[in-house]
Amino acid sequence: MVEIKNDAALAAMREAGRVVAQALAAVREAAAVGVSLRELDGVAREVLAKAGATSPFLGYQPAFAPVPFPGVICTSVNDAVVHGVPTDYRLRDGDLLGVDCGALLDGWAGDAAITFSVGTPRPGDTELVAATQRALDAGIAAAVVGNRTGDISHAVESAATAAGCGMPADLGGHGIGRQMHEEPHLPNHGRPGRGLRLRHGLVLAIEPMLMAGGGVDYRTAPDGWTLLTTDGSRAAHIEHTVAITDAGPQILTAL
Ligand code: MG
Ligand code: MG
Repeated sequence: MVEIKNDAALAAMREAGRVVAQALAAVREAAAVGVSLRELDGVAREVLAKAGATSPFLGYQPAFAPVPFPGVICTSVNDAVVHGVPTDYRLRDGDLLGVDCGALLDGWAGDAAITFSVGTPRPGDTELVAATQRALDAGIAAAVVGNRTGDISHAVESAATAAGCGMPADLGGHGIGRQMHEEPHLPNHGRPGRGLRLRHGLVLAIEPMLMAGGGVDYRTAPDGWTLLTTDGSRAAHIEHTVAITDAGPQILTAL
C-alpha cells in the first residue's frame, strides 16, 4: 500500500531527514586516509544517538542477507555499488567512498547517501560523482504532482545514459515513511507516463547508482551484503528522501 503523508508527517520526516544529513556530514568530515570504515560507522552512531534517533540499517536482514547488517551506515568503496559493510578496512588516498545512512526519529524514517573521493580523486571519479548528482537532480526535478513514477525513473536513466554510465537493472529507490522501505518501488530505469501518479504527500527515496563501466551487471561479495560491479569499474550512489508537494519537490534529507 502506498501511504500519503499529511503535512505534520512531512514535518516530522524532515526532522528525521535532518539527522541523516547531519550524520552524513559528520562522516564526510571524518573520512580521511587511514581512517577505518568501522570508525566512520562510529561517527554516524554518535550523531544518531545524540539526536535520539535509531538506525533502520542496524540489524536489518532482508531475505537475501546471510547475516543482519552490522552497521548504521553502508560504506561502499571503489567498485562497491551499494550495501558495503563498515569493516576494519582503512581508507587509502583516492578511494571513492559511498556512504548511505538512515535514521528513525519519532516514528519516521529518513534515508540518504553521498559519494566522494578520499584524498586525491582518481581520474574519472569526479566526473562519475557529478553524473550521479545530475541523475539525482533530474529525478528530483521530475518528482512533481501530476507526473508518474516512470517520469522520475526515465529522468534518472536518461542522465545516467547521457554520461555513458550503467545502473543495476533491478535496484532503485522506494517509498519511505514509518518504514525505511515502503511501496512503491522506484526503478532507476523506466518509461515516461508509466507507473504511479505522483500526489502531494507521497515521499520517495530517489537513489541513482551509476557504474562507470556502463553495464547493468553486479555481483554479491562473499560477505553476502556488498554489491560490486562485475567489470571492476567504479560506482557512485547519491540519494535523497524527497516529498512530492503542491509547492514542488522538497528534499527532506537536508541540513
Ligand atoms: Mg539509502
Ligand atoms: Mg534508499
